[in-house]
Amino acid sequence: KTFTNYHLSEEITRALHVLKYDTPTEVQREVLPKALEKKDLIVKSQTGSGKTASFAIPLCEMLQWEEKKPQVLVLTPTRELAVQVREDITNIGRFKRIKAIAVYGKEPFAKQKEELKQKTHVVVGTPGRVIDHIERETLHLDEVKFLIIDEADEMLNMGFIEKVESIIKKLPLNRMTMVFSATLPKDVETLCHKYMKDPQKIEI
Ligand code: AMP
Repeated sequence: KTFTNYHLSEEITRALHVLKYDTPTEVQREVLPKALEKKDLIVKSQTGSGKTASFAIPLCEMLQWEEKKPQVLVLTPTRELAVQVREDITNIGRFKRIKAIAVYGKEPFAKQKEELKQKTHVVVGTPGRVIDHIERETLHLDEVKFLIIDEADEMLNMGFIEKVESIIKKLPLNRMTMVFSATLPKDVETLCHKYMKDPQKIEI
C-alpha cells in the first residue's frame, strides 16, 4: 500500500514525497482512513511507530486554511514532545502553509502570546501552559474541531489528568477526538469514555 490509496490533496502528497514517506506504517494504515472519516479513536501504539504522522496527515488534510482561530489542539505531556509534534505538523503541512505553534512551560509567556496573535491553525502544548493561555485569554479554543491527546498514559503518570480534563471541558462538543497511548490503564479508558463519542479502539 502507498499513500495514494487515501486520496490526499496534492499539497500533502508532495510534502510526504519530500519527507520520503513512501509507505504508510501499520499505525498509519489503521488510523488514516478512520481519521479522515472523523471517527473518535483510541490508539494504542509506541513511539517510533509513526504515530505522529498518523494524526498529522489527516489533520493537515482536513483543516481549513482560511480559518483564523486554532482548529486543532494537541496536548502532550512534555515540552520535547510538543516541539517534535509541532515540527512534524509543520513539515507535513508546509505546502498548505499550515501554521503550528507550540506552547509549554519554562519559556517566556510573552513570546508565546505574540506568536498566538498570528493566524494559527494548530496549537500543540503541555496542559499547564495551555491553561495559562486560556485563562489569560491569549488562546481562544472556541473553533477547535480536532483534539489530540498524545501519550495519555504519560499525562496520567505526570499527574496531568485533571488539567487535561479541565481543558477538554472548555472545548466545543462538536469535535473529533483522538487519544494516543503506549498503554491503556483504566484511568485513560475512563477519561476516553467520558469525553469521546463512540470511540473505536486501534491496538498496534
Ligand atoms: P513517531 O512514532 O511519530 O515518533 O515517528 C517515528 C519516526 O518515523 C519519525 O522520525 C518519522 O519521521 C518517521 N516516519 C513516520 N512515518 C513514516 C513513513 N510512512 N515512512 C518513513 N518514515 C516515517
